[in-house]
Amino acid sequence: MCSETSQTDSEAIWRCEGCGKPIHENDPHHAGVDVELCPECAPDWSDMLATPHLFMNADDTEMTREQVQALVDRHLAAGGSLTDKLVS
Ligand SMILES: [Zn+2]
Repeated sequence: MCSETSQTDSEAIWRCEGCGKPIHENDPHHAGVDVELCPECAPDWSDMLATPHLFMNADDTEMTREQVQALVDRHLAAGGSLTDKLVS
C-alpha cells in the first residue's frame, strides 16, 4: 500500500478521458463504459442516437437503437433537447 503524498482539498476520483480534467465525486459528469467524461467532453443525446451501441443498459448489455430511441423520445417529451449533454 502506498499513500498519496499530495492530497487536494477535494479529491478527484476520475480524470476526464477527453481532456484530462479532474472530476470530483459530486461534479456532473458522464459515466460511460470504463470512461468518465467532463460535461464539455460528454456526448449529447444526438450522439447517443447516432451510436447506441456505445451506451450500456443497467445490466451491462449494449443499448439497441430502439431502447435509445425510447429514451430520447422521453427526454424530448420532457422538454429536453438533442444537444443536451448526457451528464448526471
Ligand atoms: Zn473533458
